[in-house]
Amino acid sequence: MGWSRPSTACRSRWRKAGRIVSGEVWFDGRNLLKLKEDDMRKVRGNDIAMIFQDPMTSLNPVLTIGRQISEALELHKGMDRSAARKRTIELLELVGIPAARARVDDYPHQFSGGMRQRVMIAMALSCEPKLLLADEPTTALDVTIQAQILDLIKRLRQELGMAIIMITHDLGVVAGIADRINVMYAGYIVETATADEIFHNPRHPYTLGLLKSIPRLDEPRKEKLVPIEGLPPDLVDPPPGCPFQPRCPYAVERCVPENPSLEPVVPGHRIACWVDVTGGREPHAEPVAQGVWPVRT
Ligand code: SF4
Repeated sequence: MGWSRPSTACRSRWRKAGRIVSGEVWFDGRNLLKLKEDDMRKVRGNDIAMIFQDPMTSLNPVLTIGRQISEALELHKGMDRSAARKRTIELLELVGIPAARARVDDYPHQFSGGMRQRVMIAMALSCEPKLLLADEPTTALDVTIQAQILDLIKRLRQELGMAIIMITHDLGVVAGIADRINVMYAGYIVETATADEIFHNPRHPYTLGLLKSIPRLDEPRKEKLVPIEGLPPDLVDPPPGCPFQPRCPYAVERCVPENPSLEPVVPGHRIACWVDVTGGREPHAEPVAQGVWPVRT
């Protein structure tokens, strides 16, 4: 097995795999989309860091974990080798690696999945970022380790005062960690509010569907779980209008040609939907227009 840098042709192919057609990304008073690559490189790792979902494959198997962390410190913080190594040991202690001094020269294969995710978090924290992006950081771990990693992330958020954007499909994780939630469907934010609002007063049909389809362990069993019918849309050839329209039991004629924008319903709570589902309106028993609902697969 070998590791090599991607060729220039390969890198340019990656660049063409996606393009930003509109919008802005504001961070700390700057639109990141307008930054030059050199300035963007300073933001990555320094101000914004990321942890990925699969700790088993995210680390380089042929470098010690100490080297992988201290490399970032030398590069971004200008530390010499010995200062970087000292800080690396401190970081491993911070994320709860036992006997950090003895384990700093171990290779990734000598660590369990949970310990590797702790190493990934230590690496992400090495430059004290203002923002941590956590992409499904507990998906590949068993439930006990998941809980430990979430506790660790919450503790570090508190201690280091950094913001976290957690990307997850797990509503239990969301409920345990988020202050504010953006519910996304087919690449769009369809509902945004505080975590309390989303769980107690959901207003978008997709959010309602999600909440009705998962069991609650904190409440007595009331209703049967209801799955969301159909499949997510093909994003290469999305349906016209609202992307949730082929699966939405509340769809009206207008949903087919027009995609609603995100609008406030109460202060701090916005949804992208033409229909007020909290206004006593019942879901359709029949499709409202040809091809609107239901779609059975
Ligand atoms: S806009 Fe229409 S199709 Fe989309 S979520 Fe609202 S009711 Fe459903």
